[in-house]
Amino acid sequence: MMASGSDAWASSPSRGASADALVDVFAPARTVMVQAQIAARGVIDSVVLDAMRAVPRHRFVPAEYEAEAYHDRPLPIGQGQTISQPYVVAAMTEAMHLAPRDRVLEIGTGSGYQAAVLAEISGEVYTIEIIESLGRRAESTLTVLGYKNVHVRIGDGYQGWPDKAPFDAIILTAAPDHVPQPLVDQLKVGGRMVLPVGKVEQTLVVLTKTTEGIKREEYFGVRFVPMTGEVEHHRPASTDSLRRPN
Ligand code: SAH
Repeated sequence: MMASGSDAWASSPSRGASADALVDVFAPARTVMVQAQIAARGVIDSVVLDAMRAVPRHRFVPAEYEAEAYHDRPLPIGQGQTISQPYVVAAMTEAMHLAPRDRVLEIGTGSGYQAAVLAEISGEVYTIEIIESLGRRAESTLTVLGYKNVHVRIGDGYQGWPDKAPFDAIILTAAPDHVPQPLVDQLKVGGRMVLPVGKVEQTLVVLTKTTEGIKREEYFGVRFVPMTGEVEHHRPASTDSLRRPN
């Protein structure tokens, strides 16, 4: 057992923090969240639904927002950044088609919540955050909750994490205006990359790397914070830019 005496969250030995139903006052709120916001909108993967029921989302938001942690909306996490709406986290996770041993890269650690959801259902999670204070806080939240399979790095995620590549799946939770090529290069054949693409109006894009090339699917419209740093100095390839209606 990793949980300290004062911590209401019991931790499972190797993975993250599956809540102890006896002391977890927010468990009913999570059950309702999964049913009303996530399953009701079409997320069917039971592994993803279980992960969304297991991760204590209220531990990843500032104390003043704790009571709203299971509401159907994104929330501020400081530094002008946000934790995504629960449904968006679940839909993106489902789109990654993860297996228990997968090695996953996340760009945009933020609060660490998405990383925790990924850690519940994959092998190792590598996550990069460009704002140091957020990355450090996320790292400590994840440690306290007992997630040993999440590795946080401070830096610009545009170039990925070459020493740990290739990855079975990659997720971006900040929006670039084009798909960063270094990340595509770090994806395994058969692997999937899920990301919002666009400036203000963004589309959730799912790329699958095949032996024939990259297959691209577009899901739905989303609004993430923009990806910053190196991405801003690269021009989008024409196929990546979103066509605007005249
Ligand atoms: N996944 C997060 C939500 C993150 S919001 C969660 O579950 O809470 C997006 C995050 O991406 C912000 O924290 C922002 O600082 C970070 N970000 C933006 N550009 C980045 C870049 N180039 N590299 C790494 N992180 C970046």
